[in-house]
Amino acid sequence: MRRLFIAFVLGFFALVAAPVTADHQITFIHDTYGDLAQYNPIIKSLRGTATVYWSYEQDSGGVYAHAEVAQALQELSSDLGFFAVEVAPGTPGALRIFSSGGVEFIYGNAKHGGCGTWAIGCVTEFPTDPKLVIDTATMQPWGLRSRLEVALHELMHAIANLAEGYREEYVYGTASCAPVDDGPPYAPGMHRSFMNCGLTNNQFVDWYVRFAWAYAHEIENPPPAWFGRHPDGTPFVYWENGSDSRARYVALVFSEPNGFWWSRPEYFAAINGQPYQGLIVPESPGRCVWVKQMHDGVGYYARYSIALVGCF
Ligand SMILES: [Zn+2]
Repeated sequence: MRRLFIAFVLGFFALVAAPVTADHQITFIHDTYGDLAQYNPIIKSLRGTATVYWSYEQDSGGVYAHAEVAQALQELSSDLGFFAVEVAPGTPGALRIFSSGGVEFIYGNAKHGGCGTWAIGCVTEFPTDPKLVIDTATMQPWGLRSRLEVALHELMHAIANLAEGYREEYVYGTASCAPVDDGPPYAPGMHRSFMNCGLTNNQFVDWYVRFAWAYAHEIENPPPAWFGRHPDGTPFVYWENGSDSRARYVALVFSEPNGFWWSRPEYFAAINGQPYQGLIVPESPGRCVWVKQMHDGVGYYARYSIALVGCF
C-alpha cells in the first residue's frame, strides 16, 4: 500500500510557529510571509534563466534512482517548457535531490533534514534552501509510475511553489486523499493531480499541473495579434501592447506542417511602450505563426498561453 506522500519539513515555518493556512491553496501563500516563492532560490534562478540546475546524491540507505529522477525532470521540462540541466553534487545554486531511505530519510543527516515516519518524500529546508529527499528504499517494489509520481510531486513544490492537493489538516491519514475528500462539503471541484495523494490521482502532468504552473509563474495570456502585409507583400505580425501590464516581452513561435515547432531570438521583442508593434515573419506554405507574451525567463520557453495568429 502506498503511503501518503509528502510532507514538507517546514524549516522556515517551524521556527516561527506559523498559523495554519487554508487547505487547497494553489501555491504556498503564508499568512504572514506571503508568497513563499520569493524566498526560494531555485525558483528565482528558474525565472531568470528558464533553467533548473539539479544534482543527484544517494544516501547509504537509498537505492539507485538516478534514472527515474532524471525522467521526472525531463517530463516536467518537456511539458512545462524549461531547461533541466544536471550538474555535479555541490554545484552552487543547484537543486539537490537525495535518494534516501531508513533513518536518514526519517531523521535526516548532515546533508539534509528528515522527512518523518509518515511521508514518502519531502522537501527539506523549504523554501530558502529546498532539497528533495525521496524514500527510494521504501518505494523499491512500487511501479515506476508511482515512484515517478512522488518525484514529480516534490519537484513541483521546489520549482513552482505548488501547494499540497490533499487536505493538509488530515495529512496523517488516508482521509486527506481523494476520493474521500472529493466534493462537498470539503472541496468542490478538487483536482486529482499528482499534487494530491492516494491511489486515484493522476500520475502524469495533467491539466491542473499545467494551470498551476502558469499561475505560479504568472505566465501571461497572449496579446491580441494579427497578420499584415507591407505594400511589397512582405508578411508581418503585429500585436497590441498593454493587454497585460506585467508583460515585458512578446515572442512569435512557428509551427510547420510536419509538426515541428520553433522560434529564434529575433522573434522575441521587448515591449517598447508603443500601443502596437510588429515583426516581419518568413512565409512558407502551411507554416502557422503563434504569439505569446511574458515577463521573465520561464515564460520564454513555455508553450503555454500562446495564441494562433494565422497560417500561410
Ligand atoms: Zn507535498
